[in-house]
Amino acid sequence: MNNITGMIYNIQSYSIHDGPGIRAIIFLKGCLMKCDWCSNPESQKFSKEIYYSEPRCIKCGLCVSTCPNGALTREETSISVDRSACKKCGHCVEVCPTEAIAFSGRIVTPDEVIAEVNRDWSFIMNSGGGITFSGGEPFEQAEFVSETAKRLKKSGYHIAVETSGYTSYKNIEKCLDYIDLLLFDLKTGSDSLHKKVTGCSNKLILENLKKVYAKVPVIIRIPIIPGINDTEDQLNGMIETISRIDPSGEVNLLPYHQFGKSKYKAIGRCYKLDEIIPPSEEHMKNILRKFVEKGLRASIV
Ligand code: SF4
Ligand code: SF4
Repeated sequence: MNNITGMIYNIQSYSIHDGPGIRAIIFLKGCLMKCDWCSNPESQKFSKEIYYSEPRCIKCGLCVSTCPNGALTREETSISVDRSACKKCGHCVEVCPTEAIAFSGRIVTPDEVIAEVNRDWSFIMNSGGGITFSGGEPFEQAEFVSETAKRLKKSGYHIAVETSGYTSYKNIEKCLDYIDLLLFDLKTGSDSLHKKVTGCSNKLILENLKKVYAKVPVIIRIPIIPGINDTEDQLNGMIETISRIDPSGEVNLLPYHQFGKSKYKAIGRCYKLDEIIPPSEEHMKNILRKFVEKGLRASIV
């Protein structure tokens, strides 16, 4: 068991979302889906990657002169990164005085993660909180999540996992004994739209949703993306899907936001949803009403 490791990109303390009470969120790297609205694009790749934050950069040029592979070039107002030339040696990360250039992704053991979250033990416990595994898709690193969650649960933490559901059920099954709550994403009301916007079918996701529902408490989470999944057909499709599984199921509606937009630039990618405006409060309330009228325990979070 000692050789189990995970690839994470962050541990966030004092979160009050993603489960009850105050929580530490362990963000794992790697997801098989590629949703354009993803607010954590650095979570999608399974391997570590160079992350360059222009606002933090003081343009000292130390990274450029240190890089042995010519992957960095000084531009007028920033540093440009040639990711195809980068060998991930980390020399630039070591010399950068402001952490403007860094790796997103580090390999950790369960011991290391547990030691880090234990620093906030009393805050978490006094609030009735716990630990949430998020991502990326946590179940794609099932061995690591299972071992870490088992030990955290033994220490008394409430354990939640936020999942896209797009993973083998075997992966989920390995962890179920140590999970108190699943935050399960649902993105569209039809398979055709799901294929179009995520690049994969939702059949496996719905099969997994049915299976886990019988085993652990589940809250279904729906990101509301204007012009994509907030049409009558899509909303009705999602309501029908959930109602078939549980007519009074609990649902969190998450309004689309652009908080993750700057991260796309930092990892050398384009943000494709610039044109989409976050939904108004009124629009969200109308959507909420639809879910509540059908008997679902829905809320906007
Ligand atoms: S990690 Fe190494 S190769 Fe990549 S940009 Fe930094 S110094 Fe250059
Ligand atoms: S070392 Fe850091 S602060 Fe200096 S130019 Fe490179 S990224 Fe910017």
